[in-house]
Amino acid sequence: MTSLHLPPQASLPEDWDVIVVGAGSAGVAAATAAARCGARTLLLDASPLPGGELISGISLLGCLSTRGEWIVGGVVTELLDRVKALGGYIGPVFDYRALHLVCFDTELMKIAVTGLLADAGVRTLMPAFVFGFAQDAQGASVRAVHKGAERWYRARVVIDCSGDGDVSVMAGAGYEQGGAGGVLQPPTLMYRVCGVESARLLDFVRQHPEHFGLGDYPGLGMDARACAEALHRQGLPKVLLRGTHGLLKDAIASGEMYPTSVLAIVPTSLARKEVSINSTQLAGVDGTRAESVSAALAPLMAQVKQGLDFLRRRLPGFEQAQLAAVAPRIGIRETRRILGDYVLSGEDILHARKRADGIAKGGHELDILGVKDHRHETIAQGGSYDIPLECLIPRGQTRLLMAGRCISSTREAQSSARVMGTCMATGQAAGTAAALCDASPGWDGDVRSVDRTALRRRLLADGAILEGTH
Ligand SMILES: Cc1cc2nc3c(=O)[nH]c(=O)nc-3n(C[C@H](O)[C@H](O)[C@H](O)COP(=O)(O)OP(=O)(O)OC[C@H]3O[C@@H](n4cnc5c(N)ncnc54)[C@H](O)[C@@H]3O)c2cc1C
Repeated sequence: MTSLHLPPQASLPEDWDVIVVGAGSAGVAAATAAARCGARTLLLDASPLPGGELISGISLLGCLSTRGEWIVGGVVTELLDRVKALGGYIGPVFDYRALHLVCFDTELMKIAVTGLLADAGVRTLMPAFVFGFAQDAQGASVRAVHKGAERWYRARVVIDCSGDGDVSVMAGAGYEQGGAGGVLQPPTLMYRVCGVESARLLDFVRQHPEHFGLGDYPGLGMDARACAEALHRQGLPKVLLRGTHGLLKDAIASGEMYPTSVLAIVPTSLARKEVSINSTQLAGVDGTRAESVSAALAPLMAQVKQGLDFLRRRLPGFEQAQLAAVAPRIGIRETRRILGDYVLSGEDILHARKRADGIAKGGHELDILGVKDHRHETIAQGGSYDIPLECLIPRGQTRLLMAGRCISSTREAQSSARVMGTCMATGQAAGTAAALCDASPGWDGDVRSVDRTALRRRLLADGAILEGTH
């Protein structure tokens, strides 16, 4: 057997202040924040483009609470300002169910993310798959394989933003995965369609609210019909069909549609009359196993075609719709939750619990999808909850932080904290903490010794929202 043997790339240093693994919403925020604090920051991702799920057609949840307050700022605001300058910002859209989504053009987001990282001075290395972790008294190292080399990179602190908690597991951290019996939320292959006539779609919603998910949050004080009227007035194609009633239920029963709990439509470009479709679903897929994810691709891709045919045939406004894009990868909702110094709980979320030492806020509902059902529950008074730094520190680790989907949480809490607004908030906190370690008076080589007062002060100065919300 022969293998590709190349000398290491001489131009890229091995030593960094901060290394971030994973360039999704959490990793982008972590790397940007670390670099802005003056840390020499390396960002590695297994994909060729940065963005993770930010560039798959999904809009940002968790930036606003159900009552409509902004609860996340800082890097996310800067990123959205960039999308705005590029002409791709649609802004907050209410679904008249329970959620405010910040909608944007997926293609222009790719330009915005790349520009944000470059201007912050983050050095990116991708595609680079990280498959090893080591630590000693001086720092932590990750081993990556990428075009041209297989190599160790070393830093004072490493941040695991891999979504699946890959680095933490390699470091020996404990974790939980899924619910009872290992059940996991289904993955989805997102797709986008253009040429959608919003006015026709919204007329149909107004005439037939019974087909749609509307008015879930009791605090709205509006029934489904009033919500349909308000959605119509809003004038944007943000619509949810449920697999348990109406049009979608009938199509599943007749075999016209595959089994799915939702078909969510979200605007992605007004200029292209484009929406994204979140609907394909498959049970029993384990996102931490390549063979499991690979086997899901063909059935999910077939569902894209089936879903498009259904939309064209059954949903007014979609008659002339065309497929615009399929997401670059299968979207994984749930895998590992790394056990940290504190485990965020369902009660923390549903009771909108506040903490004096919060370093990020979440505000998305409890949201556990299955192919046949959807457990969702709004936070008390449509408010927000605080996340402490302890949720970002894997138990037993000293040079490792984490942010994003894999943070320390119960299954209920993860179903809320997994959304991208919250991932960016925990990412910014982790990146700032990692960068501030060295300057902290009590820094002893353990991330726990970071100056907490300085951390919150810096986060607030950089636009993070940590106080003053419901
Ligand atoms: C179908 C679907 C719909 C969703 N809908 C919404 C929504 O409407 N709004 C919302 O806000 N959220 C939504 N979510 C949730 C949200 O998108 C994710 O939970 C969130 O993006 C996770 O962010 P992250 O940065 O933790 O991970 P990701 O965005 O998954 O990024 C992780 C990155 O790490 C990289 N990586 C992983 N392992 C390695 C490794 N070993 N080495 C190198 N790189 C690695 C990956 O390539 C990836 O780029 C949805 C999720 C799915 C799947």
